[in-house]
Amino acid sequence: MSLSVPPQRPSMCPRQMSSSSFADAFDDARRKLDAMGVQEPGEDEVLSPSLSSSSSATDVSATYSVPAESPSPLSPATPTTVPITPMVEDVADNFAFAFDIDGVLIRGGRPIPEAVEAMKVLNGENEWGVKVPYIFLTNGGGKFETERCRDLSQQLEIDVSPGQFICGHTPMREFADRYGTVLVVGGEGEKCRDVAESYGFRDVVTPGDILKANAHTAPFRKLTEAEHANSRDLLARHGAEKLSDIVIEAIFVFADSRDWASDLQIILDIAQSKGGRLETRSETFDEGPPIYFSHNDVLWSAAHEHARLGMGALRRIVETVFEDTTGGKKLKTHAFGKPQVSTFEFATRLLQQWRATQHGLRQTKPPATVYFVGDTPESDIRGTNAMDAISENEWYSILVKTGVYQPGTEPKYKPRKLVDTVLDAVNHGIRREMSRLGSRKEAGGRMLPLDDAALKAVGEGRTPEFEVQDNFLTMA
Ligand SMILES: [Mg+2]
Repeated sequence: MSLSVPPQRPSMCPRQMSSSSFADAFDDARRKLDAMGVQEPGEDEVLSPSLSSSSSATDVSATYSVPAESPSPLSPATPTTVPITPMVEDVADNFAFAFDIDGVLIRGGRPIPEAVEAMKVLNGENEWGVKVPYIFLTNGGGKFETERCRDLSQQLEIDVSPGQFICGHTPMREFADRYGTVLVVGGEGEKCRDVAESYGFRDVVTPGDILKANAHTAPFRKLTEAEHANSRDLLARHGAEKLSDIVIEAIFVFADSRDWASDLQIILDIAQSKGGRLETRSETFDEGPPIYFSHNDVLWSAAHEHARLGMGALRRIVETVFEDTTGGKKLKTHAFGKPQVSTFEFATRLLQQWRATQHGLRQTKPPATVYFVGDTPESDIRGTNAMDAISENEWYSILVKTGVYQPGTEPKYKPRKLVDTVLDAVNHGIRREMSRLGSRKEAGGRMLPLDDAALKAVGEGRTPEFEVQDNFLTMA
């Protein structure tokens, strides 16, 4: 284990030490702690993870470009005093955080009060003065990543970069080259078509285009004037004489449907078509195009007191009604997003890139522990635990009580830690790391581990005064 903290800190001299040498020093401290047989704090509170392998989403592999920025310069050191003095601008090179957004940081368009403070703690306003790298991993979507980051920056009073952000449809960009004409469903107005085209999709059809071409498609849905004007003329655009000349090669549900009835009708029509040809009906009901949902959350945390229905509910309806209307034929659809392990693998690559470009952690190994903070056991906790089961590094799930999870109930997928808010989650993770790593207190230029009592105190978030005894730090 390592944290980027200097093993030696000459008084009043600017530090120039690299992350890796900080890491070496902490590895050394960790070995001493291990030799003491020190228990990690809070392990008795760990709920046994209930793992279940994730279902059928297509594997996502991607490169995600982020703007190159210089790492923050290290600040000059201050003389060591007792108690531990925070050092600004140290970067944790051995652990990181990843956050779900809705129900953790934001609810109903407003920040959850503790979220702003939690971000400050990660950005160095903690008793150790350490900055901790973090990314956001939301199943939500329906906007450009840059737009969502701008919103998040305002809400959380920090700068959020697309280089640290993954939303539900981000991995869909990988499919832009694979298909020609696709149906894109969900979101406000033309937004998801715009997003899909920005991903490189060449021919994006929307439900509005189909309703414009044949108003009888959904008997109770009438396009508004604006929708009619924004929807495209499918026949002219495809140089087709009839709609059955147009083949939909895949369906992508980018964001939540704004009109479930007509979208459901159109998705099912195409799922039951002859090879994706509009307005046709298959005799075998097994030749429709693939259908991809950007996530599978049945519920999500919005402004209403109770969780609201999400895209996962639409997915279930599509599959169920397909079966009901085809004499029992099964429809297999795909979902990205959490809890798919491929989404967490995507997040791992993004985090690695973000640590390198933003924090200058280019030479270091991936973080030994990634703390994932979420509010939905079925996606956040399930996915984190599944990732932890197959990953070399540790994925540590933390469930908060500010969203979908109902306090007092038994979560279907058990987190490693249950806390009230995201601020508690951040404090828990940082303190757990600090306790594991020992104090960075130096005496005579040496790194010294904490003794049991001091370790317990730090683990509980206290900042006692220390003194040196037998090469350990103990409570003064
Ligand atoms: Mg959530």
